[in-house]
Amino acid sequence: MSRVINFSAGPAALPLEVLEQARADMPDWQGSGMSVMEVSHRSKAFVAVAEEAEADLRELMNISDDYAVMFLQGGATLQFALLPMNLSAPGATIDCLLTGSWSKKAASEAGIVRSVNIAADGAASNYTDVPARDTWNCDPNAAYFHYAPNETIGGVEIHAPPEVGDVPLVADMSSTILSRPVDVSKFGAIYAGAQKNIGPAGLTLVIMRRDLLERAPADLPKIMRYKSHADGGSMLNTPPTFAWYLAGLVFKWIARQGGIDAMGVQNQRKADLLYGAIDASNFYANPVARAYRSWMNVPFTLARPELDSEFRAQAEASGLTNLKGHRSVGGMRASIYNAMPETGVRALVDFMAEFETNNA
Ligand code: PMP
Repeated sequence: MSRVINFSAGPAALPLEVLEQARADMPDWQGSGMSVMEVSHRSKAFVAVAEEAEADLRELMNISDDYAVMFLQGGATLQFALLPMNLSAPGATIDCLLTGSWSKKAASEAGIVRSVNIAADGAASNYTDVPARDTWNCDPNAAYFHYAPNETIGGVEIHAPPEVGDVPLVADMSSTILSRPVDVSKFGAIYAGAQKNIGPAGLTLVIMRRDLLERAPADLPKIMRYKSHADGGSMLNTPPTFAWYLAGLVFKWIARQGGIDAMGVQNQRKADLLYGAIDASNFYANPVARAYRSWMNVPFTLARPELDSEFRAQAEASGLTNLKGHRSVGGMRASIYNAMPETGVRALVDFMAEFETNNA
C-alpha cells in the first residue's frame, strides 16, 4: 500500500487508523453480516452509533445540554440559507463580518432572505487582514452576527471569538472545527461541513443553542427547520449513515490523540513549522497578516511564479499532493488539518528548501 501526503483543502485526508477500522468493519459490521451502510438508520445498532458519536463530540468540545447537536446534510452552503431563515424574522437585520470568500458567500445568501449589515469588510487588504474590532459597525439589534473563523481559501483565521455583546454569534467552522479548544458557550450556533476535520463529505454538523431553535417562523417547512431536526434526533429523514459512522470513528481517534487540547498544540506546532520556513526564505511568501494566519490552510507563493507548475510536479513526484492554490488565488495552498501528521509538514518544508536551493 502506498499513501501520499495529502494537502487537500477538502475533502481532505483522514487518519489512516480510521480508514483501516472502516475497512475492517466493512463487510461484517459488528457481526451483523452487513456493512454499516446496509442497515436501517432506525435500527438499534445504528442508533447506538449515532448516539455515541454525539456523546463523543459533546465530550470533545465540552458542549453543554443547552445546545442541540445535529448531524445534517446539505453542506455548510445549505446553512448559509437555513440560518437566516430560522434565526431571523422578516424585517430583522443580520450582522456579517467579511474576511474572505466563504464569509462573503454566507452574507450574500443571507442577503437574499433578510437585510444584511456588513459590520466590517477586509476588502481593503484584499482579505489578507481583518479590520480592527474598534472599527466594526455592529447593529446591537441584529438577529445574529455571522463570521467564518477560518477562511479556507485565503488562509485567514480569527483565533478567538469576537465580542459582539448579546447578539448571538454564529460561526462557519467548516475548516477549523476540532482543531483547537473553543468555548462553545460563547456561540449561538456553530456549523461545519464534515469533509475537513470531521469525516467524509455529505455530513454537516450544526451545534445550536436550544433557545434559538424556537425562533423559526411558522411557515418554514419542517425539513428546513432546525428544531424539527433537533427534536427528531437528526433522523427526520434518512441521514448520511456512513458519514455519521465515520465521523464517530474520527471523534474516537481525536480522543486517542489526547483530545482537542492536544490537537491544538500539535496544530500550532505544525503551522509554526511551515510559516517559519516560509518567513525564513526569500523565495516563498504568505500574504496574511501574522495575527490572522490560519493554522489549517497555508497559502503561499513562489518568488518565480513561472515555476508554480514545476513546483507542483516535483512535489507530486515526492508524494506531496494537492498543493495547488484555489483557482481564485493561484500559487500554493497546504491544508494541514488534524489528520496531517507533523512528519507530513516536515516533508513539505524539506521539499520546499530543496526546491528553493535548486531554483532561487
Ligand atoms: N465554508 C467554508 C469555510 C468552507 O471551507 C467550505 C468548503 N470548502 C464551505 C463553507 C462550503 O461547504 P460545503 O461544500 O460543505 O457546502
